[in-house]
Amino acid sequence: EILSGLVGSEMCIRDRPYSHDLVINDNKYLLFTEKIKKTSWYIISMIDEKEIISEVRSLEDHYINLGYIIIASVISFYLLFFIYLYTKAKEFVRMINVPLFKIISMTKDLGLKKDINKLEECGIVEIDILSENFNNLATELDQRTKKLVKSETQRAFNEELANTDSLTGVYNRRFLKDFSNKYMKIVKREEDKLSMLLIDIDNFKIKNDTYGHNTGDLVIKKLVSIIKNIVRDKDLIVRYGGDEFIVLLPSTNIRNARKVAKKLISYLNEINQLESKELFFTITIGTSEYQDSDKNIEDIMHRADKSLYRAKDLGKNCVV
Ligand code: GH3
Ligand code: MG
Repeated sequence: EILSGLVGSEMCIRDRPYSHDLVINDNKYLLFTEKIKKTSWYIISMIDEKEIISEVRSLEDHYINLGYIIIASVISFYLLFFIYLYTKAKEFVRMINVPLFKIISMTKDLGLKKDINKLEECGIVEIDILSENFNNLATELDQRTKKLVKSETQRAFNEELANTDSLTGVYNRRFLKDFSNKYMKIVKREEDKLSMLLIDIDNFKIKNDTYGHNTGDLVIKKLVSIIKNIVRDKDLIVRYGGDEFIVLLPSTNIRNARKVAKKLISYLNEINQLESKELFFTITIGTSEYQDSDKNIEDIMHRADKSLYRAKDLGKNCVV
């Protein structure tokens, strides 16, 4: 079989060592020939190819497996490292975010009345310094705001006290003077109308003497509520002193001012029909209107006073 294989393969036996492939029954063999010098014999060795490379094959499989293991290890290492980094980064971001979000939400309450919650330490030096500075800032701002609110409330209260009449709550003479100086300029510039009612309670002295000072006070308060009922919101009511009141009617001419005055008187007379003797009273009203030549509020008041005087002369409880 070997020889026929040799013939089939057309192999020539040579003097030098020589190798050749031989296939028998689909099995591949390697043939080696070598001449023995002294005898001129030939040694022919035939080796199954599978046997030669079986060792190499098993070694190759070994290395391939080792390669897979190394690749899997590297991938696992990187995966684990990535997961570790991810969780650490998340933890770090949370450490920064929690105090930062607290600072953001607290900035909304800064300067408001709400009590500020102090920021706690988070472990990151820079953030902790920021939190501490913010705590100090919030406390400082809170204290200053409280002081400011207190002083502003006090100031507004004092101003209110200084500008209003304590018995009736309407503006006083002092306010009229301050306000009218500015207001007269606007009226002049805008060429607007302005009218005044000077209201005086009739025979108020007798009321006081007959029923006492407290009843007199009640009468004054009742008059204020009646005036408030009749005039518009933008009209200015001032207690000028004693039983005398001024109503400034912006953008109103003398005709309409007299209409308001008459309405006041008839409204009071209507109420009087149901009123007890103690609180029964009448009023007299002098009216006047702003004129271009007027320099200050006293000029308008002067004419209103004259009208009042004439109305009193006419028998009181009327308008001039
Ligand atoms: P006439 O009709 O001419 O106005 O007479 P009258 O009695 O009202 O006279 P007059 O307006 O001069 O009187 C004002 C009185 O108002 C004098 C004062 O005793 C009294 N009076 C002033 N302020 C108050 C107050 O706050 N309460 C009380 N009860 N009386 C006051
Ligand atoms: Mg009077």
